[in-house]
Amino acid sequence: MHEMGIALQVIKVATASIPSEMKDVRVERIRLRIGKLSGVVPDSLTFCFSVAAQKTPLEGAEVLIEEVPSVARCRTCGHQWEFEEGAFMCPECRNNELDIISGRELEVSSIEIAE
Ligand SMILES: [Zn+2]
Repeated sequence: MHEMGIALQVIKVATASIPSEMKDVRVERIRLRIGKLSGVVPDSLTFCFSVAAQKTPLEGAEVLIEEVPSVARCRTCGHQWEFEEGAFMCPECRNNELDIISGRELEVSSIEIAE
């Protein structure tokens, strides 16, 4: 499952970000930024995370997912717009040379450690 690999990666990144002098900490909350183009299903990722986090400092942590909209920018006229899927033409000038400037994010934005 796609999401399981991502959950494992998130746990690895989050665990590595815990200062080494802090032993036996528990992560209370983790925030993720996930672009809509990443193909990740938030509910599925949350489920995989809860399974994969067992026996790690992230066990039982609340997962907050911020979905990042997909935004494209036209190389010809500079127009930027948000799209759902399959928007491969500029709605202003009809050019198809464009850059995807957000929507592929898949990152840990913060973790909160329990007191
Ligand atoms: Zn354009």
